Amino acid sequence: MNGTSKVLVGSVYGAALAYALLSLILSLQTYGGDAGMTIPGLGLIHGPYSAFISSMPYGVAIAAGGFALSVAGMFTKGPLDVAGRENPVEYLWTHRPNAFLRCLAAPWGLITSAWEKDRRMVAIPVALSPLYAVWSLLITVALVVPFAIAWATVSWKISSARENEKVRYRTSTQFAVCPSCKRRFSRPNVICSCGLVIDYPVPGIHGIRQQTCNNGDSIPCTAGSRTGLATSCPYCRKKISTHEAMPVCVSLAGASRAGKTTLMLASAYVLIDGARRCGIPAEAATEGLSPERLAAKDSTDVTLSEEAESECLFLKPHGEGEREIVFNDIAGSEFEPDLGKHLFEEYYKYADGTLFVFDPTDPAGISGLMDVFDSFYGMFTQIRCESPGTKSDVMFAVVASRRDRTGLEDGDVRPFLMSKGQDAFVNTVESLFPNHEYFSVCSVGSDCQSAVEPLMWILHGVDRDLADRINAKIRANK
Ligand SMILES: [Zn+2]
Ligand SMILES: [Zn+2]
Repeated sequence: MNGTSKVLVGSVYGAALAYALLSLILSLQTYGGDAGMTIPGLGLIHGPYSAFISSMPYGVAIAAGGFALSVAGMFTKGPLDVAGRENPVEYLWTHRPNAFLRCLAAPWGLITSAWEKDRRMVAIPVALSPLYAVWSLLITVALVVPFAIAWATVSWKISSARENEKVRYRTSTQFAVCPSCKRRFSRPNVICSCGLVIDYPVPGIHGIRQQTCNNGDSIPCTAGSRTGLATSCPYCRKKISTHEAMPVCVSLAGASRAGKTTLMLASAYVLIDGARRCGIPAEAATEGLSPERLAAKDSTDVTLSEEAESECLFLKPHGEGEREIVFNDIAGSEFEPDLGKHLFEEYYKYADGTLFVFDPTDPAGISGLMDVFDSFYGMFTQIRCESPGTKSDVMFAVVASRRDRTGLEDGDVRPFLMSKGQDAFVNTVESLFPNHEYFSVCSVGSDCQSAVEPLMWILHGVDRDLADRINAKIRANK
């Protein structure tokens, strides 16, 4: 049971027991021949059970014993049980299912706990009930008001904390994505340090600032305090990192050997380096962007279609929400027609931008541009449930690779395509993706700053301030 629940139980039980205790004392006083207690303004107060006590042999002992049995019942496991069932996280004591009834039943807890242990044992508390029934009834009545006050206070706190959290999550994170199954969801699951998988902790009936798993571990549940939690995908259950970062999702498209994977690695390499130089910690979250892989970026093999995982890296600007850059690099063969395609490109639903890469030194690649685009666009509209021909607000970068060999500038790419008879491709792209741009990049060697430009263009469209800060450092290095 967490701290909040202990305080709640303490104050509700405390108020009811104080009232019952006072009643016990007054009853004993009256029983002992005293006239009761004089309270200023109220006059003479009598204990309600003096008649009951006086009717019993050994009245004082019976009154005190009965009172103790009622109190013992309140502290048995049943009335204090707050364990979560479907989501293995403890409830707040005032907000368990049927909390009010369970609270009122607390002074009768000896009966319920005997029933749970062994039904035959119920005979004992039932046999003793004439001793404590009067006190249990009194305490039950006395619990109503403190419980109602506690419930109302906690409900009000929950609703304001929940509203705050919702606003902060919406501005800092919005949603999370799974690099494995590529689905987007509002919140991941959390893996507690004890191994229990729980719903993402938000202020609610399980806690306002902290929640407690059924094994007793505490878990923060307010926005910003949860970045260190281990998380998993609610669909495929794989362990993922989210850090409550806002995802910026980029998809790569293009034929086999157009240079997509090299472009992704080079842009990640330059971005991480530029971010670190302006004091923004940056780290890869997936194996594909590990420092070793980035260092060996020039010797990457063709991406196999089984290598379907997205690659992610985190930027952690000080004092602002984190950003997660998600690259969806799938094999070029997926864009070739007449292949049994598996449409796992869920990310088209939420991608902020697409990098459409081609190799200007490959004549076959240039002449096949329209086919590759058609194939991409077919998947794109199908997954987004849009009719073909719908204009999209997704950013679309046409990226010519191998600038080291062609010497093309960004401004040369469009005329180059036109000169190669790709008017249809250019016109289609420009009409379907009004937010488009042309880039010429070199992704190999140490002089690969240009590779990050298309990515920075997309980042700029999502988070202008962050992109400007990083861009300044990257350009200073040119
Ligand atoms: Zn998943
Ligand atoms: Zn735990």
